[in-house]
Amino acid sequence: MTINCDIAILGGGTGGYVAAIRAAQLGKEVVIIEQDKLGGTCLHRGCIPSKSLLRSAEVFALMQDSEDYGIAADNITLQFAKVQARKQGIVDQLHQGVQYLMRKNKIKVVQGKGRVIGPSIFSPQSGAVAVEYEDGEMETVVSKNLIIATGSRPRVLPGLEADGQLILNSDHALQLESLPESMLIVGGGVIGMEWASMLIDFGVKITVVEAAPQILPAEDQEVARELRKLLEKRGVTIYTEATLLTDTYVPASDQQELSITIRHQEQEHVLTVSKVLVSIGRQANAESIGLANTDVQIVNGFIKVNNKMQTTESHIYAIGDVIGGLQLAHAASHEGIAAVNHICGEEVHYNPLQISRCVYTRPEVASTGMTEQEATAQGIDVKVGKFPFKAIGKALVYGESDGFVKVIADRQTDDLLGVQIIGPQATDLISEAALAQFLDATPWEVAQTVHAHPTLAEILGEAMLAVDGKAIGM
Ligand code: FAD
Repeated sequence: MTINCDIAILGGGTGGYVAAIRAAQLGKEVVIIEQDKLGGTCLHRGCIPSKSLLRSAEVFALMQDSEDYGIAADNITLQFAKVQARKQGIVDQLHQGVQYLMRKNKIKVVQGKGRVIGPSIFSPQSGAVAVEYEDGEMETVVSKNLIIATGSRPRVLPGLEADGQLILNSDHALQLESLPESMLIVGGGVIGMEWASMLIDFGVKITVVEAAPQILPAEDQEVARELRKLLEKRGVTIYTEATLLTDTYVPASDQQELSITIRHQEQEHVLTVSKVLVSIGRQANAESIGLANTDVQIVNGFIKVNNKMQTTESHIYAIGDVIGGLQLAHAASHEGIAAVNHICGEEVHYNPLQISRCVYTRPEVASTGMTEQEATAQGIDVKVGKFPFKAIGKALVYGESDGFVKVIADRQTDDLLGVQIIGPQATDLISEAALAQFLDATPWEVAQTVHAHPTLAEILGEAMLAVDGKAIGM
């Protein structure tokens, strides 16, 4: 049988389902082809479940420090099964929400594995996707435009392939039924550092091995140093510029532990741990979806698109993790909206340079635009404003005064080039900086916005003034 529609979307994750809603709003007939559950990685194996576990870890840590707030609490115990049940409850609730949105917007969801079979026989300008259902039945979806939103999966480290028992990827880690005594985290990027922060708060002994000179290699050097210092203070052991000798991985005979050798500063260290989490990035789901039947190009494993999200075959678009770049949920959804807007002849407002990057460690890290190092490397004469949370009343009230805000501006033009935050609620605070960049505001203009007192947001006004040495509170 054949299903005809205006826009077919292959993959119903954050990118795919948001694109579908936007297309329905613009009056298009839309079909989503999803092999698993609507919501994709973010809802089921990423953002939401990991943030729920992080929140439980944060509450556990806060309760242990409750005396600092004048509250004595005895016998604080961790009930990890309930932590996991809470997480699943939130995921299920949001999953129902996405299903409701599909019904409300009259979007047809086809539950099966899709494979592009080339231009449709009805018109060379349209696409066709063969869908295989679980029972082996097949159907074809024919559309004028196709959006590929098939996402990504954990990258595999040869020699240390995840088995779900001793060696885990992030999908496995989210399903842990009990906490291990110790864990080696391979990869100090966003996912690795979030797990390090969460698990140390849950009382797991954590070691992180990162090949680059700093953890969070994409972030500002000072911010990464500060996070490292704060995590080390809480007991996380971190090796940077370290390599893993995967050929020396030895599981203990009872399979309860394994030993791994790493090389760091020309010395070898044997680490014996209960589990290993491999978090070395994500690989695009760009193979086995039939792209060989099209002229869509893949570069370094990711689908190549232009700034309207069009692939090298103009009626086929691609969005989200499958095109690489920042691989964040809010990037995927905005790319989805950009693709649909372009298909429908609407204006496209999407600037990947203005996507906020958020790390939900304790304290949080968030940034938008360029780091000081990136701006300097581009030969820009920068001026930098920095302001610490310890001079912000609300941060002291919260008992969370570690960290700072750093503002990077162009000395010649006064353009706001970037903002980095490490500290409490950084991932919420960054939106003000992102708005300022979107509206092309100068640091002075942001500082003239009246920030209520006492709020954490006051720090943004102060850091913007600090760019010209005019902060009030320091
Ligand atoms: P996905 O969400 O992966 O969706 C792709 C969908 O396509 C899936 O549902 C899949 O089943 C389906 N699919 C694939 N192939 C086929 C096929 N052949 N036929 C039919 N269906 C198919 N991002 C943030 O912004 N904030 C965070 O806090 C955050 N935390 C994260 C934590 C973890 C542990 C991980 C792993 C990721 C996290 N991310 C976070 C990243 C975020 O999850 C992704 O960037 C986002 O999910 C990408 O959306 P997408 O639509 O491109 O792909």
